[in-house]
Amino acid sequence: MNTEEITQALQTEQALLEKELGGVAVADSENPGGFVGKEPDMNDENPADVVEQGHEQEVFSRNQAITGDLEARLVHVKQALEAITNGTYGVCRVCKETIAPARLEANKAATTCINHAD
Ligand SMILES: [Zn+2]
Repeated sequence: MNTEEITQALQTEQALLEKELGGVAVADSENPGGFVGKEPDMNDENPADVVEQGHEQEVFSRNQAITGDLEARLVHVKQALEAITNGTYGVCRVCKETIAPARLEANKAATTCINHAD
């Protein structure tokens, strides 16, 4: 297995995910290493504007949802990179069985076999 190529692909994805997270999220002060969706800037000029407030709530909800997805993916990417470092890449971290190559090909960040996919 060419782990160098996989490492590169995963590192590229990690950088991209962190960049995207930077756009929609801020570091979670209560959860080190975690993120929370960015709150949009409140409209100080016209705080009573209900339409604007509704829009901001919408932006915040969307940021939260995107943050959750990006964060979950980032965790997987980091776990896969760790597995490469530890020499356990391609092995299910739950049952220690070899992960099917087709699964790894479809998802380089997979650290579980198909039976233990979350
Ligand atoms: Zn498994």
